[in-house]
Amino acid sequence: MKELFLALTGAGISAESGIPTFRGEGGLWKQFRPEELATPKAFAKDPKSVWEWYDWRRRIISKAEPNRAHLLLVELEQRLENFFIITQNVDGLHQKAGSKKVIELHGNIWRVRCLSCRAEYELYETPLKEIPPRCRYCGGLLRPAVVWFGESLPEDALTKSFELSQNCSLFLVIGTSGMVYPAGYLPFIAKQRGAKIVEINPERTAISDIADIVIREKATKGLEQFLAKMLNF
Ligand code: NAD
Ligand code: ZN
Repeated sequence: MKELFLALTGAGISAESGIPTFRGEGGLWKQFRPEELATPKAFAKDPKSVWEWYDWRRRIISKAEPNRAHLLLVELEQRLENFFIITQNVDGLHQKAGSKKVIELHGNIWRVRCLSCRAEYELYETPLKEIPPRCRYCGGLLRPAVVWFGESLPEDALTKSFELSQNCSLFLVIGTSGMVYPAGYLPFIAKQRGAKIVEINPERTAISDIADIVIREKATKGLEQFLAKMLNF
């Protein structure tokens, strides 16, 4: 079987594209923390505030371009026969950069789901004309089709991610705090099955202790360094 390579990416890989991470200074919106907004409970209580926060994030993301780290991962996909990205990001920048084999564990910020008729579709309007936005089919309340704290992950994406993690030989972990589960378990599963773990992150994380190689750099510089050294890029 062909050797399998994986990258798990988090908010940090998009930080250099100007998209704030959740953990750290730039993550705050008004006085709210993401943990207070990205939950079913917050949405049930105050859908308008939650949607205003999403509208703010959607506006930032709509203007963002993939950075060198996203592009290097596209190149990696082209050079390696068996390479997948598992991302916790909802910004779609891997696909915008040109990566094809991307598993989105937490959904996508451009998708919405109707709470009444369950329709799910893409909605690119930014800024939104009406907040909260209403379903184009039945007028019901829409929610972002992303995974909130306390919700389960899409089953197909999760099953595939576990399977890939169990079978990979090299696992790059880029720009994730490793604090959000079950995504945070994936490097541990890979490690247990003998994979080499490479962490690229300017800060120490929950994954640092099991990493075989730690590169304490931002995603762009760190990935450039790693690929130059390991794969003669
Ligand atoms: P996180 O906010 O918990 O952690 C961000 C990590 O990125 C930190 O470890 C930080 O040290 C690191 N980091 C910061 N700048 C970096 C850089 N330039 N290069 C490399 N690393 C850098 O993010 P998470 O682990 O992805 O988990 C939070 C959740 O937030 C996820 O579920 C995700 O869906 C969501 N989220 C997504 C986006 C996005 O789509 N861009 C943005 C914010 C949050
Ligand atoms: Zn509907």
